Amino acid sequence: MDQEFGNSSIDIIMKHSLIYYGNPTLRKHAKAIKEITDETRALVEDMIEIMNTHNGIGLAAPQAGILSRVFITCVPKEDESGEWIDGTLRVFINPKILNVSNEKQIDQEGCLSIPKIFGHVERPKVVTVSAQDLEGKPFEITLEGLEARCVLHENDHINGVLYIDRLNKKERKEIDKDLRELKKQQKNKASK
Ligand SMILES: [Zn+2]
Repeated sequence: MDQEFGNSSIDIIMKHSLIYYGNPTLRKHAKAIKEITDETRALVEDMIEIMNTHNGIGLAAPQAGILSRVFITCVPKEDESGEWIDGTLRVFINPKILNVSNEKQIDQEGCLSIPKIFGHVERPKVVTVSAQDLEGKPFEITLEGLEARCVLHENDHINGVLYIDRLNKKERKEIDKDLRELKKQQKNKASK
């Protein structure tokens, strides 16, 4: 969604948009946020918009073109009757992975910045992470299953790591052609 052409000062103007594989920003290490400002809040607002527009369950700032250590997650949950219910939106500023379980889980992963490509990634089943919320308040949370996977995937993003780096050789090879194609599209876009 592109709102850049909005001209009213009252309108919320999206300054950030989703960037894709092939953009070098996705490979860079993001910097800590020293102070949470209006700019940080605007970035997070845009990230939520991008995540929702693309039906994602998580997004990291580098995917919005900003090299700051912040990511968001909103992972749907299965309730007792097997129905999927909306997840809780969580904002992680300056996150630190404090602990991961020895127990691992293998599941399929995708990434909004690498559309239409999927692969199986082994990750710890449980993760404990500390971070600050949008008010700057520190918190610590232990998550498991898909939510743990999502946190670890997004945390990788702020270190310039993509899930495709974690695929086994065979799977990585299988998607190689699609990745090259995606990279080429980005180059074409950049040169226009
Ligand atoms: Zn991703």
